[in-house]
Amino acid sequence: MVDTLKDEIKAYAKTIGIQKIGFTTADYFQTLEKRLSFAQEHDLLTGFEHPVIAERVNPSLIFEQPQSIIAIALAYPNQMDNTLRSKRGEWRGVFARASWGVDYHTVLREKLALLEAFIKTKVPEARTKSMVDTGELSDVAVAERAGIGWRGKNTLLITPEYGSFVYLGEMITNIAFEPDEPMGDQCGECTQCIKACPTGALLGDGKMNGKECLSYQTQTKGMMPERFRDKLHNRLYGCDTCQVVCPYNRGKDFHLHPAMEPDEAKVKPLLKPLLTISNREFKETFGPMAGSWRGKKPLQRNAILILGRYKDETAIPDLVNCLLADPRPVIRGTAAYALAKIGGHIALEALQTAQQEETDDEARAEITAALLNLSQKEG
Ligand code: SF4
Ligand code: SF4
Repeated sequence: MVDTLKDEIKAYAKTIGIQKIGFTTADYFQTLEKRLSFAQEHDLLTGFEHPVIAERVNPSLIFEQPQSIIAIALAYPNQMDNTLRSKRGEWRGVFARASWGVDYHTVLREKLALLEAFIKTKVPEARTKSMVDTGELSDVAVAERAGIGWRGKNTLLITPEYGSFVYLGEMITNIAFEPDEPMGDQCGECTQCIKACPTGALLGDGKMNGKECLSYQTQTKGMMPERFRDKLHNRLYGCDTCQVVCPYNRGKDFHLHPAMEPDEAKVKPLLKPLLTISNREFKETFGPMAGSWRGKKPLQRNAILILGRYKDETAIPDLVNCLLADPRPVIRGTAAYALAKIGGHIALEALQTAQQEETDDEARAEITAALLNLSQKEG
């Protein structure tokens, strides 16, 4: 009976636009526990993860008598039209692919809700608990064990059909399904992602220092540590480098969900207008995107760093305004850093004024460092 149901669920999943579906047991995730414990011991976690390791690896702690887990994957696009290009005085930043279109959490939750409803029409006593990204379970570990793909050395799930450009979600159930077979590692000797990572965050053997990853660094709310600032290049949110270089992603570009299509002007926005955007405008423009989940401050901080890196002199008036008038110390301190990168007498005068007026310790330290940088550069 349950295997017939499994076939019915698979057939239904196809009709609602789920690209891959797999089934696994609700057993304890032993390998994941080892990996998470190692990461915790070595301070490699970012803090964005669910904090209780036991709940992440043991489905029976978060669901009464679980019998199996259903994993789903939806393919997302890799390429966009690219008609908007950065140019002098009109620099643009980029959002990583996982932030293109409508927030994928919404899209996947809708698919899982449809799947839950379908299962309940077949088995009225079915109980389910679905999650996407922010739940207790590890999407990648579940999908890997359910045979959807394998966990690459870039720590992402790679599918043979869609590469790593897939969003993952899962559903714990009290129905016992025949589990699918995991496909096993197919990275082999390849180390391209490890070599390409700009910060050395990938440690080999699928280990990663999450705090060194630019994707994490673009999402923090405080000052960005100096060693990451230049490496940011034009990344406003997230980083796709270890996906772009992966040979399994070559030629993969699927446009199967209208909700995931990027609006180029939003995923490659002009940087200067971001510095003065109102809360309302920000919410209207970027609110539906996954990349806005931390609010506008991290994105504005990143925009300032990118403008500094490009030495955009036309941004000086906006940066001076950030330095002298923004109520947020992180924005003032970051503007000081960017102004020193760009240089010139207006930047110097603004920094000197700011040094007199600044009351926040961290922002003042940035201003002092910026003045030192500028004097070394121009002296
Ligand atoms: S997302 Fe970027 S910074 Fe993070 S591991 Fe991949 S290449 Fe490195
Ligand atoms: S780049 Fe190579 S090592 Fe890295 S995930 Fe892809 S196949 Fe695996």
